Amino acid sequence: MADDAGKISSQATAAPFEDPTTKHPKPPFKRQSQPWPGLARDMDPPPDHGEESYRGSGRLLGRKALITGGDSGMGRGAAIGFAREGADVAINYFPTEQPDADEVLALIEKAGRKGAGLPGDLCEEAFCKKLVEDAVRELGGLDIVVCNAGRQQSRESILDLTTEDFDATMKTNIYAPFWIIKAALPHLKPGSTIIATASEQAYDPSPDLYDYAQTKAATMNYVKSLAKQLASKGIRVNGVAPGPIWTPLQVSGGASMEKLEQFGAQAPFGRPGQPAELASIYVQLAASDASYATGQIYGSSGGAGQP
Ligand code: NAD
Ligand code: MG
Repeated sequence: MADDAGKISSQATAAPFEDPTTKHPKPPFKRQSQPWPGLARDMDPPPDHGEESYRGSGRLLGRKALITGGDSGMGRGAAIGFAREGADVAINYFPTEQPDADEVLALIEKAGRKGAGLPGDLCEEAFCKKLVEDAVRELGGLDIVVCNAGRQQSRESILDLTTEDFDATMKTNIYAPFWIIKAALPHLKPGSTIIATASEQAYDPSPDLYDYAQTKAATMNYVKSLAKQLASKGIRVNGVAPGPIWTPLQVSGGASMEKLEQFGAQAPFGRPGQPAELASIYVQLAASDASYATGQIYGSSGGAGQP
């Protein structure tokens, strides 16, 4: 910890100096598949969400955050980071993800903050409205909204993509943020932030992600539009664009078995990212010292992709 003048205490222990190429597992990975939406705890190797590594320094003290998909993946990484930075955190997840959610809620409480688990299906407008109201009630307000939940199902051909598939992807990735942000806006004071999880797919779409990739282009776009619309209200809107990250989404239909075995091999680092490696980006975008960042997309892709 540093004093007011920025001098670091002699008792402080340094964050480890690490080589990013060897820090986390590399392909080949074991073939594995789980029924959607999958559980982080059943992945091999298990993802690293920062459970052992994230160290806070009070950057979000007293803040109140709602994170969709907060049970696993990037959402869990953000939830751990936010709580350890001093925020109270409500997480939404699909009801079958309760085992993953319970682990996150325990970690939030262990960090000395209030955690609220709010399960439900984001494809339903009425639920999205209720989710925001429940989060506000549980936390006593709201000033960080992270629209992170996403649906990604690989389909080799557009001919294999059903209308039900297409609809579910649009509902989860585009409609749910629309409904949630509308419901949240009346509660957000100047200084509040909205963060969306976009993807490198917004800029460089894979052939088997026809529906998903276009939702991520839309996400990138709504961030930029809404940032302009809400600037005068003092509300910042930003996005995170991950590259290949080791999460349940990939092992529950998001990637083909061939892609999964070699997951992350194409990235210049030669491995997928772990959710822990993106947590500090969500923290940074939420923190008040990033006050000039709005309408931005921050990438984390291991060296390839955009932005
Ligand atoms: P993840 O499986 O851990 O998280 C996705 C979450 O979405 C699930 O945990 C689930 O809680 C939620 N969700 C999906 N449909 C839902 C529904 N109908 N109702 C309620 N919740 C629902 O995987 P992740 O990779 O951490 O995904 C988080 C975000 O990151 C997504 O928006 C995804 O598109 C994006 N992303 C992931 C990658 C990657 O390689 N993993 C890359 C770029 C972007
Ligand atoms: Mg999950």
